[in-house]
Amino acid sequence: MVPPTSSATRPRLVVVEGDITRQDVDAIVNAANTTLLGGGGVDGAIHRAAGPELLAECRTLGGCPTGEARITRGYRLPARWVIHAVGPVWRGGRHGEDELLARCYRHSLALARERGLKTIAFPAISTGAYGFPLERAARIAVRECRAFLEANPDFGEIRLVCFGPAARAAFEAALRETAPDRPD
Ligand code: ADP
Repeated sequence: MVPPTSSATRPRLVVVEGDITRQDVDAIVNAANTTLLGGGGVDGAIHRAAGPELLAECRTLGGCPTGEARITRGYRLPARWVIHAVGPVWRGGRHGEDELLARCYRHSLALARERGLKTIAFPAISTGAYGFPLERAARIAVRECRAFLEANPDFGEIRLVCFGPAARAAFEAALRETAPDRPD
């Protein structure tokens, strides 16, 4: 028999395969562009699922620089909030892409903490149309999430939502590679 998982030992950093628009968490993160006015990929899926009110609120924000994030309501999504993070376009790796991607995770998590949120789900920011190599992006994501959880013991859960088996394999590998001594 599997013993019930106590809240003290339940992992707080979780990799799942799925659709981020279906995640029942306090906030989902959108891989947005600098205009915040919608695009394809996960951004398009989030706007479709949230309804037109999301775009209307995004229009009031005046865009967002790369490496930063902005928060809106989630409207028709199960998640109450959407954090719109702007990842870097991959340009070969020598244009600060790693640091800009890390900042997306840090800024999104800081916004969640400021609002008192406890659960958040991220897509693999920049790894679609923006071309960031998946394994490299996964390592950065896992590193930043672990650092945040370490510094914020009261935060509930960070869910890394992978769209398909390739992304899932990359994120699970990154999780194993950097496994801490004790459960995070
Ligand atoms: P970017 O422009 O930042 O690369 P994309 O939306 O093109 O953003 O892709 C980012 C990641 O989101 C990719 O790994 C893509 O497979 C994934 N993705 C696309 N749709 C969804 C979805 N509905 N749920 C979760 N992840 C998604």
